[in-house]
This record gives sequence, structure tokens and C-alpha cells, in this order.
Amino acid sequence: MFNRRTVIKGTPISGGIAMGHARVVLPGDVELAEITIPASRVEGEIEALVLAVGLTIQEIRELMESAGKKIGGPVARIFDAQLLIADDDEFLNQVKSEIRQTRRNAAFVYNNLVKSTTAPLKSSPDEYMRQMATDIEAVAQRVLSHLSGHEKTDLKFPPHTILVGKMVTPGDVLLYRQRKAVGFVVSEGGQNSHMALISRALRLPVVLSRDSCFDIANNSRLIIDGTAGEIIVHPTSDDWTEYQKRRKRQGPAAITRIRKLSEVPPTTADGRPVNIGANLTLRGPADDILAEQGFPVGLYRTEFLYLANYDFPDEESQYDYYRQIAQKYARSYVVLRAFDLGYDKLIADAVWPQEDNPALGWRGMRAMLDMTNEFKTQIRAILRASTGKNLKILLPMISDVSELDRAKKLISQAKFQLRKQRIPFDEDIQVGIMAEVPSAAMTAETLVKKVDFVSIGTNDLVQYTLAADRMNSRVSKLYSAFHPSVLRLILIVVEACKKHGKPVSICGEAAGDPLALPLFIGMEIDLLSMNPARIFDQCRFVKKIDSTMARHLLASVKASESQQQVINMLQTYKSELEKKKPFRKRK
Ligand code: PEP
Ligand code: MG
Repeated sequence: MFNRRTVIKGTPISGGIAMGHARVVLPGDVELAEITIPASRVEGEIEALVLAVGLTIQEIRELMESAGKKIGGPVARIFDAQLLIADDDEFLNQVKSEIRQTRRNAAFVYNNLVKSTTAPLKSSPDEYMRQMATDIEAVAQRVLSHLSGHEKTDLKFPPHTILVGKMVTPGDVLLYRQRKAVGFVVSEGGQNSHMALISRALRLPVVLSRDSCFDIANNSRLIIDGTAGEIIVHPTSDDWTEYQKRRKRQGPAAITRIRKLSEVPPTTADGRPVNIGANLTLRGPADDILAEQGFPVGLYRTEFLYLANYDFPDEESQYDYYRQIAQKYARSYVVLRAFDLGYDKLIADAVWPQEDNPALGWRGMRAMLDMTNEFKTQIRAILRASTGKNLKILLPMISDVSELDRAKKLISQAKFQLRKQRIPFDEDIQVGIMAEVPSAAMTAETLVKKVDFVSIGTNDLVQYTLAADRMNSRVSKLYSAFHPSVLRLILIVVEACKKHGKPVSICGEAAGDPLALPLFIGMEIDLLSMNPARIFDQCRFVKKIDSTMARHLLASVKASESQQQVINMLQTYKSELEKKKPFRKRK
């Protein structure tokens, strides 16, 4: 444990400075001290255990019921096994008699017996046995958290708390943000993970530190700098004063820069306008300013409504939300992406199947096509909010034309219902797809003909093309939009769209990367939609780029053989441009 001033170099995940005290949250690691109890407390300890098991059984039943309602029987069955385990009288009796014999606290005895039961199962070659061990552990975690009275969702902490944790999901970010946490130090998760995206959207500083995370003690004074990726444990009073000043400089400046956007309309050095839009997650401080300036929202990640609600919001509340967004962006338009749930866009304890490879599993449209009621509810809400004719629908994770056909059919059914009910909506609402799975990019020619627009999601396209998990910082060196294979896939999509006269946008993080900007200008991408924090700098940089030069650069990059070659070429081009005089303010 760190017990004096220590500066840790971590990975920057979400920018900004947070100052406060550490609260260590290690999901799954319940502290279990071994306590000898007096004989008079033995029966009380057993009563507490029985109560904890009872509460666990009740919780699992509730989860089963809501899983059954929300996503149907097959999924709910994952809880059958857990219920049987929790309800195992023989095991409970064993724990009780051991408490009586050893006079040790219930949590300690229970945990030991769980460990000795699961150890042989965990090393079994039989997948079924290993799964059983996981189920036993899941049940045990609930029982132990009831016994200790420390449930994750009940976690309370004072103001200015920086959470230090093993893994933080986007749902945790929302939950802890609501409880006024000011930042996170995490030991897992990459710069393009959804946790990172939502933290940036909420302007919550986050630093990743794989090893040191576990050496920060509860209540240690902490400063984290999410932009530099630095953590200072036990800072001196000089550090404190210095970072207070830096935080002051960063805060209002970030907003003022967005306010200045009207001074830098994005037009290339040779006068070609470049369309820039914002990726939004939840309503944030930049919304009003972006809307006032007439920027469109090229990607609205609606799944965060689910994550914030712990459930699918009903049609009325979704309608209300989408209507307000449509009105706010009345000067431009908003691309509402259908719920892209699954993988890391889930909350702790979410009713969702546990999968070995969730990135390759039940997520995005795949899941929504199995939950047609929830999908149609969302589409009805979007359609009802579309009367101002400035909403578009985007379908995530399309990997095959059959998925697109089914989604379109469901959209038609929703329209049909609304017409029958005489509820007005935009009959010509545009429907587009994300090109973020290599199979979709490779078959763009077929897909493009069936949609109104395409948005290239480089975040997922990169991870699937290069087999490099976007959340895994160990492979972050491999994860790059500049790999020739990724660029070729992007070009396949762009060419198919141009051929069929369909607009194509980029909405992955690459859209906000200055190195990639000349390439996208060279490709004549119709909209670059990015994190609002990137908009100002990208608008400024556009002004230095000559579109003919950008086309030449693209031609050279196309001939490159490696990621490094591409990066070198782009870096050289960028440094040449940076030598140019800064842009002049518009009179
Ligand atoms: C993408 O994959 O590039 C994308 C924009 O979607 P998300 O980051 O929400 O998965
Ligand atoms: Mg994606």
C-alpha cells in the first residue's frame, strides 16, 4: 500500500482533473475476516445466515421473473441453476454445523465451504462443471454481501470521492455519478470502451492503472489527471494548490471553446465545407451550445436510457425524451441509434446472459431482433417524435442482410400501427445502418441499396477486423484505425455509398482524430460525427487542409503496407500543416 506521496503513470481514459479521497470498490472481493464468536452469539450468527440466504433466494426469483418478462423464457432459465444452489438445504446445514463446531463467523465459514466446493469444479475439463462453479460463486457473492450488509448498489460515500475499482461498467459510471463520485481509477478497460465513452460524455475523469490500483488504500487522498493519465496518491499541499489551479483553467475553458465554434466554420483551405456532427450519450453541458450552433447529432447512443433506468423505458417516456431532443436540434437533425445493448454496455447485475465472448455475442440488433416488443416500442416512440422531420433511425451491429430485412419489417409494422391509430409521424424518416462489423463492410454493396444512409463505426470495426478487444489495454497497440485492412474496409463502404448515391458518415472515435482527418476529407465523407470535446480542434484543423492534397495523401496511404507506414505518412503531413500560420478569425 502506498503510504507516502506517489505519482503513478497510468493510461488516460477520460480527461479532466478530480481531487478527493479514494473509495476502493472491488466487486466480488468481499472482505472476510475470521472472527471467533462467543457461544452466546452462535445462534444469532446462524439466524443472520438464514436471513441472507432467504434474501438471496428472493432476489434470484425476482430476477427470474423480470428476465422472463423482458427477454423470454430461455434467458430466464440461467437463473434456475442459481436458485437450486441457493436453496440447497444440505449445504446450508453443513455451514450451520460448522459454525456451531468452530465458533467462527458465518461469512467466513460460508465462504470457506464455497471455496472448497468450487475449487475442484473450476479445474474440471467439463464445461458444465466449470459453469456450475461460476453459478455457485454468483450465489455466494449475494449471500456474502447480505451478510456483510455491503451491497454494491447500496454503496454510499461522501462528496469528492474517487472510486478505485477492478472493473467499472457504463452502468456503474451512471450510478456512481448520480451519487456524486468525482472520478475513477480502474484496473481494466480500454480507451474505446463504452465505460470510457460514457465517462467522457459525463466529463468524469478516469485513469487506468492495471497494477497500482490495488495498492491505493481506502480514504487515501488522491488527485487524478484523466488527460495526462496520472494519479497522485497522498499529494502534498503544493500538489493540491497546483491542481486546483489547473482544474479551474480546464473547466470553463472547455465550454468556452465550444461556444467559439461559430468562429471556425469547418471549411477546407480551398473552400470545401466539411460537415461535422456530435456523438451524444446523455444530455450533457455541451448540448445547448451545439444545438444553437446548428451542429447535427450524427450518433445518439440511446442505450444509455436503458442503462440509466435499469430497464427499457416505456414508450411514453422515450417519446418524451426523443421529442425534446428533436426540438432542441430543430435547426439540424439527430440520428437516433436503436438500443445497442450487450457486451460492455450493461449494468452490474443486469438481466443479460453471461457469455464467453460477449463482443461476439448477443448485442446490438441481434439482441433487439430477439426482443421485438422492446424494439418496436422504441421505434414507435422515435416515429411519434419525428413529426418535425429531423430524426433518423440508425441500426447498430448489422452483420447480415437478413437482420436488416427483419429490422425494416418491424419498422414497417410500427408505422402501420401508427397509421391505423391515426398518430402522425414522418413517413419519410430515413433508416440507416452502422457499418461496424467486417461482414457488413464487405457486403456494403448489397446493404447500401436497402438503406438511406450508412454510418461507419470505427470503434467496433477496428476491434473486429484486428481481433483486438477495444476494452483490453494489453492489446491497445494492435487496436488502430490506421491499419491498412481497416482503411480498406472503410473504403469499400464509402465506394458502395458513393456508387448508390447514399450519404456516408463516420461516427467512431477516429472521426475526432486529427491524424485521420485528411483521409476522411480525401474520401469525401458526408459527415464526421465525434465526441463534442473534439469538435473545436477538428473544425480548426479542417481549415488547414487542402482537399486536393488530401486526395493525394489518401492515394499514397492506400498503397501503404503497414499501420506504421500509414501513421508515419499522416504524421509527416500533420506536422507540415501545423507549421502553417494559424487560421484568421472570421470578420
Ligand atoms: C462504433 O463502434 O464505432 C460506434 C460508434 O459505436 P459504439 O462505440 O457505441 O459501439
Ligand atoms: Mg459500435
